[in-house]
Amino acid sequence: MERLQKAMAEAGVASRRASEKLILQGKVAVNGITVTELGTKVGVHDEIVVNGVPIHHEQHVYYLLNKPRGVISSAHDDKGRRTVVDIIHDAEIDERIYPVGRLDYDTTGILLLTNDGTLANKLMHPKYEVEKTYVAKVEGIVKNDELKQLRLGVVIDGRKTKPAKSKLLNDDRSKKTSIVQLTIHEGRNHQVKNMFKSVGHPVIKLHRETYGPLNLYGLQPGEFRALKPEEVQLLK
Ligand code: URA
Repeated sequence: MERLQKAMAEAGVASRRASEKLILQGKVAVNGITVTELGTKVGVHDEIVVNGVPIHHEQHVYYLLNKPRGVISSAHDDKGRRTVVDIIHDAEIDERIYPVGRLDYDTTGILLLTNDGTLANKLMHPKYEVEKTYVAKVEGIVKNDELKQLRLGVVIDGRKTKPAKSKLLNDDRSKKTSIVQLTIHEGRNHQVKNMFKSVGHPVIKLHRETYGPLNLYGLQPGEFRALKPEEVQLLK
């Protein structure tokens, strides 16, 4: 059960404040009865009608996907390419979900999908930006001072990146490539690729292995699972 104004806000009716106003104005009915009390609680089976229009009030779901290469991190693609939401819907799960943040078309790894707008907004907000660990295969042999630059911050589009962690996992002197683990707290567009580019090592392959407290243990590329309630709590 949750507060009526919270359920309304999560369903995208209006902000919580504006939803409270609608309730006080007598424009909201629950199970056919007009409600004017702000303390009213509702569950997923209650019918909420705002200004005569029923709202879509779903139970929250949370899925963790190991995103394969070659799928788009959005709910729809104008070019008709397969999306991360298609992967979940193909398994006969039909909730209206969307990804929390994005991974590039060619990036693999951990991606959270949900219909919980409040949590998604929180996780994507720069103030709360969760820790994310990437493993990148890059061109060239990455030197210690370049790892240090990545840690301290590099300038992308005129703005310095926040402190990060970087670690050389492997280098291949004959192929002239390196494998580097990079942990960041931000989520700027193409951030990891741009960070490596700025130190002279374009990314060949990119994989995200952790998202906050979550990892991909047991999930092959293209596989997903529902989060356990205690995992959802860890994110909140
Ligand atoms: N940074 C990138 O450059 N690409 C991703 O997909 C994720 C982070």
